[in-house]
Amino acid sequence: MKLPHLDWVNQDSPYLRQHQRGFRGLSFDDELEQTFKRYHANVFLRRMRWALLVATLLALLFVLLDAINLPDPLRGQILALRLGVMQPLLLLAWVATYRRGLRDHLQLIGGTVALFCGLAVAGVIGLARYHNFALPYEGIILVTVFFYFLTGLRFITAVLCGWLTFVAYLAVEMSLGLAGELLLSNALFLALANIIGSVGCYSLEYSSRQNFLAHGLLQDLAEKDFLTGLLNRRAFTERAERSWRQAQREKQALGVVMMDVDFFKRYNDHYGHAAGDEALRQVARVIGEHARRPLDCTARYGGEEFVGIWYNLSEEQMLAILENLRRGIEALGLAHAYSDAAPVVTLSIGLAYLTPQPHQGPEDALRLADVALYLAKEQGRNCVVGKKPGGLAD
Ligand code: GH3
Ligand code: MG
Ligand code: MG
Repeated sequence: MKLPHLDWVNQDSPYLRQHQRGFRGLSFDDELEQTFKRYHANVFLRRMRWALLVATLLALLFVLLDAINLPDPLRGQILALRLGVMQPLLLLAWVATYRRGLRDHLQLIGGTVALFCGLAVAGVIGLARYHNFALPYEGIILVTVFFYFLTGLRFITAVLCGWLTFVAYLAVEMSLGLAGELLLSNALFLALANIIGSVGCYSLEYSSRQNFLAHGLLQDLAEKDFLTGLLNRRAFTERAERSWRQAQREKQALGVVMMDVDFFKRYNDHYGHAAGDEALRQVARVIGEHARRPLDCTARYGGEEFVGIWYNLSEEQMLAILENLRRGIEALGLAHAYSDAAPVVTLSIGLAYLTPQPHQGPEDALRLADVALYLAKEQGRNCVVGKKPGGLAD
């Protein structure tokens, strides 16, 4: 798939890396693979649900046909297989698609059920052969095609189910004495159904993986800052509003923070724009490392300014994190011979520490954080200043 303007995706994006590396073996790098499995389970959930319902109804239809057509005692044995093994398994799997907790295991559940149904169909054919009843064997081809194209099973699971069913069918027919041309042609048709199914299923999963990467790349493009990989200002505004509303509901405190690299114009002027970019990337990495909880987030606000929001910490904890962050930037040791604050690149940090009030929004907190940042600049830079709505926090 051709995606436009990949130059503007953050170059550390795992989606971009995977896109460039390729995935002919239908597997991604570890972390991305886990995310893909969840994405696939969600995208194919409805298809799997419908497939199981259709399979249950079709199997019921065959129960009806067998009840009418089959002679005794074959009827009893085949109905026992259909009603005792296939129907309950299909129903159980269908119920499992409604259990959130089982979402991560649907491939295993669906694959196991599909395999047992395949083996049961081979068993049905074997029983009919044993009783010399001319039951059409083509049912197993239908089941095989169903595995590959309708169940939402991923390639490897569908291939295992399809080919194991093929082997079971051959074993049953050979043990019951089917030989010669008929065995050969039956085996050939079932093998061909498996080959067509395998190729089709591979390309289905390949496209699904492409879609997943395209989706991730577009999301990165929309939400992440191209240079640093932190959230961009737009995405931050959205997250900040979400955290703000949650803090309002739960009456929790927020730390809203503005950060600005000291004397960065001089850094650029003397070390060059490329070195400036690299410094911004390193500064951003340290900032990101200090906000790892789900409701915390940091972003590049623009230029050499960064913002962050931290959820439900005490004022002391908040100031400790920021002091740690400030030291972390210093510790990068990026020489800055033209800074009046220190011989290395440093960061001034302004904190607004508050519990959101009904008449306020995150922009009020950012304004307060900006005032705190201004004070930090005034106090000589490379320091943290906190402000609360009514006065100084530190
Ligand atoms: P202060 O200590 O008061 O913050 O001074 P300053 O020089 O850091 O602030 P000023 O706002 O005057 O300059 C910010 C500079 O940041 C201007 C620009 O050269 C640089 N800058 C902004 N965005 C980028 C970027 O994406 N890459 C690089 N390399 N530099 C950038
Ligand atoms: Mg600035
Ligand atoms: Mg600056």
